[in-house]
Order: sequence, then C-alpha cells, then structure tokens
Amino acid sequence: MGRVYNFSAGPAVLPEEVLREAAEEMLDYKGTGMSVMEMSHRSKAFETIIEEAEQDLRDLMNIPDNYKVLFLQGGASQQFAMIPMNLMKNKVADYIITGQWAKKAYEEAKKFGKANAIASSADKTFSYIPDCSDLPISEDADYVYICENNTIYGTKYKTLPNTKGKILVADVSSCFLSEPVDVTKYGIIYGGVQKNVGPAGVVIVIIREDLITEDTLPGTPTMLQYKIHGDNKSLYNTPPAYGIYICGKVFKWLKKKGGLAAMKEYNEKKAAVLYNYLDQSKLFKGTVRKADRSLMNVPFVTGNEELDAKFVKEAKAAGFENLKGHRTVGGMRASIYNAMPIEGVEKLVEFMKKFEAENIK
Ligand SMILES: *Cc1c(COP(=O)(O)O)cnc(C)c1O
Repeated sequence: MGRVYNFSAGPAVLPEEVLREAAEEMLDYKGTGMSVMEMSHRSKAFETIIEEAEQDLRDLMNIPDNYKVLFLQGGASQQFAMIPMNLMKNKVADYIITGQWAKKAYEEAKKFGKANAIASSADKTFSYIPDCSDLPISEDADYVYICENNTIYGTKYKTLPNTKGKILVADVSSCFLSEPVDVTKYGIIYGGVQKNVGPAGVVIVIIREDLITEDTLPGTPTMLQYKIHGDNKSLYNTPPAYGIYICGKVFKWLKKKGGLAAMKEYNEKKAAVLYNYLDQSKLFKGTVRKADRSLMNVPFVTGNEELDAKFVKEAKAAGFENLKGHRTVGGMRASIYNAMPIEGVEKLVEFMKKFEAENIK
C-alpha cells in the first residue's frame, strides 16, 4: 500500500501515526470491546476522550480559564450565522474581507443586522492583507470579524487588526494549531477541524465566557446557542464523537512534537523550501504579497493555464495529489498543513524543478 503526498486544502492530510493508532483501536477501544464509533457519548470511556481532548487543547494553546472550548457540528460555515445570532446585541458588526470565506461570513451576518465591510483586498484578487492599523471601526460594533488564514488565496494576518477595543472574532480553520496564539486577544477563535486538526464534522469554538449569554437574537434555534453547548460541555446532544476522538489524538501528537512553538518552527522551515524555490523559478511564481504569505496554503501559477493543467496532471501521476488551485482562482495550490512532512515539500520542489527544466523555453 502506498500513501501519496496529499496537498489537499481540506479535508486534508492527517498524521500517519494517528491513523495507525486509530486503526489499531478500531475494533476494540482500550478493552471496551467496541469502536469509539459504536460507543455511547454518555459512557465513561467517551467522557474521558472528550475531557482529555479539551485539556490537551487547553495545554497546547494556553487557553485561559475564562474561555470555554466547544466541540460543535455544522462546519465553519455554521459559525457564519451562529456568531451574529449570539453576539449581535447592537446588531452591528465590522468585517474585513480578505477572501471568499470572510465574504461568506459577511453576507450571512447581513441577514441578522448591519454588517459593515470596513476593509477589503478584493481589488487585487485577495492577494494581500489590507493595512488594519487604523480602520474605521464602528462605534457600536458588537465585534470585528476576520478570516485569519485565507485558505483559497494563501494569505495570513501577521499582525492582528487594531479593533480599537472591540471584540475580535477569528476564523482560523486553515491555520489552527500551526503556531502559538495569544488567545486573550480574541473573543472567539473558531475553526472547522478538517484543514489542520482532524476529520470533517467537528468545528471547535474557543469563546470568552462573558460572550456566552442567553441574550441571543429572537428565534435563535436551541442548537445555535453557545450557552446551550457551554452549559452542557458540548454534550447537549450527540456530538461528532469519532471526530473528537481523532482530534484528541492529533492534540497528543502535537504535544509529543513539542507543541505549537515547535510546530511553527517546522512549518516555517517547510514553507521556506517551497517559497524559496518559487522566488527564483523562471516558470512558477507565487501569487501572494511576500509579507502576507501563509505558512499553510501556497498558491502558485505558471502564467499559462494549459501548462498549469499539464503540471497538475503530471504531478498527480508522480504521487503528488490535490495540487489544483481552488476552482474559483485556477493555477495551483499546495496546502502544507502540520501533518505534511517536510520530505513531501522537498520532493514536490524536486519535481517542480524537473518540470521547469522540461517546459521552459
Ligand atoms: C474550509 C473553510 C471554511 C468552510 O468550512 P466548512 O467546515 O466546510 O463549513 C471556512 N473558513 C475557512 C477559512 C476555511 O478554510
């Protein structure tokens, strides 16, 4: 059996060690005689799984006690509605539009109140992060919203926006656990786990306790209230139990690797292999302003669509999967999340060099 180098943006590569461990435990989880998939979410065994997962995440991210960790469903996209429904007390929120995911969140928020697009990088196809040092933050804004790492366009905030004292809400789906974060700077940090943490089906919401109130917008469904999930420790109804179990294993894997500071170092080293090559290639070029480059998603082009397609096809045949860019932008994109080994990127660059030599005129 051969595993490919999987550069998918999500669902994405997971640590092989984690998959092997899960395989070993598939039929009999720690002497319970059943798979975690078959187990009651109220059982002692599962209680331990979810509690350990939360504690390991708290250790990794250094999450303060006044923040709750919620394991929910509905993907990152469900948060686009859940955030305004729970936080829009004044019915005003400011959004910074750095790509499709931020835009979708902004469009959704408009259903519930006044959402303002206070900055955007749409003018240059979202290839940069706007200057956020002195934005026209609304005086009555309930929060300021960002998408911290833009999966499709390959940009990342290197400094957080100056929110002028307003609550910062961040979608970190594609940079979750890729480097240390200062949780205290945010009101909410959330992400779908299928990019950098685990299997699809879980979204993790880290939320400051004072933002969890009963005072949601009228008609907010029970399942979309943070308070319900907070009060019930993510066990109000059946949670995405198997997904949480795998996330828990990934947290333990990250701890073993040395935690988020070590991950950052590794991810920087790994991304540099690809960016350094792109910066001197005569065929390929990166599409993002250098200062705003993501460590996780690296888009690049040849400038010729036919050649792009040829590259993706030949790369696939050579064992490098899912390098096609997002359907809305074309070109190529290599997603090099935590679980992508540096050898995968080195081999990809070797392949790109060979392709360049064969195709440059
Ligand atoms: C993938 C992605 C989403 C959407 O996630 P779903 O779980 O499919 O809803 C939202 N935001 C970002 C930054 C993403 O990368």
